[in-house]
Amino acid sequence: MSKNKKIIIANWKMNPVSTKEAKKLFLGIKITASKLKNVQTVVCPPFVYLNELVSEYKGHRIAIGAQDSFSENAGSFTGMVSPKMLKNSGVEYVIIGHSERRALGEDNKMINEKTKASIKSGLKVILCVGERSRDEQGKQFSFIKKELVESLDGIAKGSLKNIFVAYEPIWAISNNSKNKAMSSNDIHEMTIFIKKVLTDKFGVGMKIAGVLYGGSAGPLNTKDILENGNADGLLVGRSSLDAKKFNRILETANNIE
Ligand code: PEP
Repeated sequence: MSKNKKIIIANWKMNPVSTKEAKKLFLGIKITASKLKNVQTVVCPPFVYLNELVSEYKGHRIAIGAQDSFSENAGSFTGMVSPKMLKNSGVEYVIIGHSERRALGEDNKMINEKTKASIKSGLKVILCVGERSRDEQGKQFSFIKKELVESLDGIAKGSLKNIFVAYEPIWAISNNSKNKAMSSNDIHEMTIFIKKVLTDKFGVGMKIAGVLYGGSAGPLNTKDILENGNADGLLVGRSSLDAKKFNRILETANNIE
């Protein structure tokens, strides 16, 4: 990915409910995504649609990601899907440590194991971190630092080129209140902080693939977040379920200098 190319990731979560709808949504995004030179689009559907969508289209301007992956490649693990299976199916990216999975009991240790296994299998990891709340004393910074340091324990510096950190303050995810997304100033502060934590941990010259923002990102705030928030891309939930809205996000990102 060139330096200024933005990465925009659609996290469909547990939507839509049929292959027909998933294909329709995907095709609606694909037409726009495949035209945009300055954006790498990644669509992360539920597991059951991965094969269908991989066979539908796989090109350098749109890629398929999974929403999770287990830490083992094969064996007696009922219900799990392994990183090797994903890689062998043509999947290129995987979201690890989303706050909705952490809420189901995943901790930094599990996320670390999943991250290591995914990297080893040749997937690009989108590692999610984010605080539940903020305070005046800045407790969010120590919280994010702990998530990063523990989730990336034992990862080689050279593997960072295949890891995106998605900063997703939990309170801003699908936020219906007036404040919606976090302010671009605060996003900028956090992207700088994340890069500093990574530099302290891995040394000067560390090359993380990108630091992304997620949390009520949509067509109206994309430009502000990418330009003033200094984010390398976006992880988009709700607005990725509407092809028109998502395509406006892609087009806006494509026009950022
Ligand atoms: C998410 O859950 O990763 C997310 C960013 O959701 P939304 O865009 O709906 O806030």
